[in-house]
Amino acid sequence: MPTLTAKEILEQQFPASETATKSVETPTEFCVEFRNVSKVYENGRGALSNVSFQVGKGEFLFITGPSGSGKSTLLKLLYGEQIASQGEVIVNGQNVGLQRGNQLSYLRRQIGVIFQDYKLIPQRTVTENISVVLQAQGYTRKEIQRRLEPTLKLVGLQTKANCFPEQLSGGEQQRVSIARAIVATPPLILADEPTGNLDPDNSWQIIQILRKLNHFGATVIVTTHDEQLVRRCDTRVVRVCNGEIYRR
Ligand code: ADP
Repeated sequence: MPTLTAKEILEQQFPASETATKSVETPTEFCVEFRNVSKVYENGRGALSNVSFQVGKGEFLFITGPSGSGKSTLLKLLYGEQIASQGEVIVNGQNVGLQRGNQLSYLRRQIGVIFQDYKLIPQRTVTENISVVLQAQGYTRKEIQRRLEPTLKLVGLQTKANCFPEQLSGGEQQRVSIARAIVATPPLILADEPTGNLDPDNSWQIIQILRKLNHFGATVIVTTHDEQLVRRCDTRVVRVCNGEIYRR
């Protein structure tokens, strides 16, 4: 079987990539919009206050700010784990807070989420951890097989397919969680402190994988408190501080 390059793998995974708007251009279409969003948790804790910003289709965006500033809450509002107390959170033209049942499930399928703590199933192999998403979405075994190999290759884990999470390093576990998030080719990828538990080399590898995905069409939003990493990437940044967008 011929060896595919990373570019070919990505084109196979993200067939719509050629039409993507790159972040260097002014976006004409928005993937994500926060419109005057505030969030107060049930215990009365205020996490966000009147936040507004937009993310264009095909953009790569960092959200930075100190711990507790509201970064994770922004992402949770996007994939519907939390609902805004005020304002509107729009993903692909849909108001996330109004989605229920099947509509919310459908919206979530358009979003791949990567967490700081990986959230892998310990008793399942790498392959099983990745394919569980496709099984839940009703993909056939043949389609699951077709997607697995290029995805493993993309994250550099072909040789670890049958390992269990405890047999992997932190960086490898995070790459499994990226593979799981992208195997169904969602157009929007959210990564919540994906490098929070990793050393600088592994962090950089993870960011490079996310940038490749962006290069081939996915809109990518990454939260981090690692300012050095952000500076190294030279990409658009939204800074949050005490639940507000920080504008200099
Ligand atoms: P960050 O990701 O920047 O560390 P978070 O969005 O996790 O910040 O948290 C913002 C604020 O909201 C913090 O004060 C935090 O304690 C609070 N918070 C987060 N999640 C909850 C929750 N489930 N219940 C109550 N308060 C929360």
